[in-house]
Parts: sequence; structure tokens; C-alpha cells
Amino acid sequence: MAMNHIQFQHGLSMPEFFQRFGSESQCAAALEAARWPHGFCCPCCGKTAHCVLRGGSCKVFQCNACRHQTSLIAGTVFQGTKLPLTVWFLAIYLISQAKTGLSALALKRHLGVDRRPGSRPKTGVRDRRSEKDRGQV
Ligand SMILES: [Zn+2]
Repeated sequence: MAMNHIQFQHGLSMPEFFQRFGSESQCAAALEAARWPHGFCCPCCGKTAHCVLRGGSCKVFQCNACRHQTSLIAGTVFQGTKLPLTVWFLAIYLISQAKTGLSALALKRHLGVDRRPGSRPKTGVRDRRSEKDRGQV
């Protein structure tokens, strides 16, 4: 019988997850690296010269060429959230690790947030997955 490579692929254990994404600054750095793998690129004009107006998870970049300002989370699934990135990253991890799906109630319990924000990460991640499946990402 052929081995199912998907089933036996190496995953990320919970301790490894918290080691990599346990703090807000680690999540912000990971998001920045995923969003701009070759460094900041202005979404307006495409230039790379910029300055940072505010640091942290709400890091704000300003393009030196056109003065357009954008935050680290603007235009991402995290835009407009009041939840810390650590909660979002944990939600993504839990949803991606659940073989049979994860209810909004179970996610709420794991994340320690009330139902409404607890259901938002799931909805956001699910919508993003659907876009990816349709090849829109
Ligand atoms: Zn620009």
C-alpha cells in the first residue's frame, strides 16, 4: 500500500509553534517577512525606500517617494482587528492542525476570547483558504 505523504508530513508541534510565534514581535516579524520577503514595497508606487513611523505589531511604513502610509496589517486578513497577532497566529495554527475541523465554540475556548472575535479569525482564515483554493491569492 502506498504511503500517503500528506498524512506523514512533518508538522509544527505546539512547543515549536510557541517558540517561533510566542510573542507579538515574533508574529509581527513573521508577518512582515511573509508580506514583503524582499523588504518593504510601497503598495501604491512600488518603490522600496521608506521610513517606519511606528513600530510593534501596528508598525506603520511611509513611502519616501509618494508619502503613502500603510500599516503591517493593512490589506491582510488581520486588518481592523483589535486582537493581538499572537491570538490570530494561534487561531491559524489550531485551525490548520485540526483534522476534522474546529468549531467557533472550541476555538473560543482555546483562544480565551468571547464568541464574536473568536469566530472572526476562523471566518477570516476560512475566507482566505477559499481565495487560495480559487487561485486568487
Ligand atoms: Zn509609494
